[in-house]
Amino acid sequence: MTTLTISDLVVEHRSPGRPVVRAVAGASLTVSPGEVVGLVGESGCGKSTLARAVCGLHPAAEGEITFGGRPVSPLGLRRRELTAIQMVFQDPYASLNPRRRVGDQIADGLRTAGDTTTAPADLLERVGLPREFAGRHPHEFSGGQRQRIAIARALAARPSLLIGDEPISALDASAQSQVARLMRDLAVDSGAGLLFISHDLSVVRLIADRIAVMYLGKIVEVGRTEEVWADPKHPYTRALLGAIPQPDGLGVLPAELPGDVPDPADPPHGCRFHPRCPLVMDVCRVKEPDFGPVACWLHAPE
Ligand code: SF4
Ligand code: MG
Repeated sequence: MTTLTISDLVVEHRSPGRPVVRAVAGASLTVSPGEVVGLVGESGCGKSTLARAVCGLHPAAEGEITFGGRPVSPLGLRRRELTAIQMVFQDPYASLNPRRRVGDQIADGLRTAGDTTTAPADLLERVGLPREFAGRHPHEFSGGQRQRIAIARALAARPSLLIGDEPISALDASAQSQVARLMRDLAVDSGAGLLFISHDLSVVRLIADRIAVMYLGKIVEVGRTEEVWADPKHPYTRALLGAIPQPDGLGVLPAELPGDVPDPADPPHGCRFHPRCPLVMDVCRVKEPDFGPVACWLHAPE
């Protein structure tokens, strides 16, 4: 059983002459085999950085990431273990090589996994595309089809964990829920975990077993999808859910929530959400609610 465990993870961005940014500022999360966890939050909240750290692409400044009990780090993962975590990115145009036939690109993944019996066309079939697409080039396809191809390529490596970093945000509305459901079904069928990152709560609700809400580098609420949906506890989660019925389907903050996301290089003291929180109390300005599953002083554990 290959479980992903993220414990008190801190990931810093450093650039010369600029303040250190704690893009992930102490986050804990697990993804079990066959489980779908939706990670939601506004852009810039640290979701992608967390995903990249899980893939060993960013070192942890503090805390730990383990996968199947072994630490994940840029040096700690051997090649075979790296293929066990596969990522599907937002932009299928950028992630596929335009000059190579899609079948050859899928074949790369099969080779890495040492799979000599599966044909690239088999994987195209699994993602709902015709077998003969294997002989074509990426530019011949729509965004939704390209994302299916990217998913087929990820699956070729037989991952134990699939990560989608905003995999549907570049797609049109009809392709969005189809691709999201496809990722869910493929992950669950193969027993792989799926960490599905999105700012679109309405799609995450369709596919996730659990939802984790991230704000300014922190996970502020985690819970079973139906519970979070029926009874969101953190004021930020409530704000996000209040934003759901947008005509364009995007979960953006409602107008009544004041202010923008603060500068992650200079986060507010105490609760990071306090400058925007309609329920702010004195304690919130001085003391960070550093606990789960709801990191808010209104929901402190006994
Ligand atoms: Fe609002 Fe305080 Fe809860 Fe932060 S801790 S979300 S400021 S009530
Ligand atoms: Mg991102």
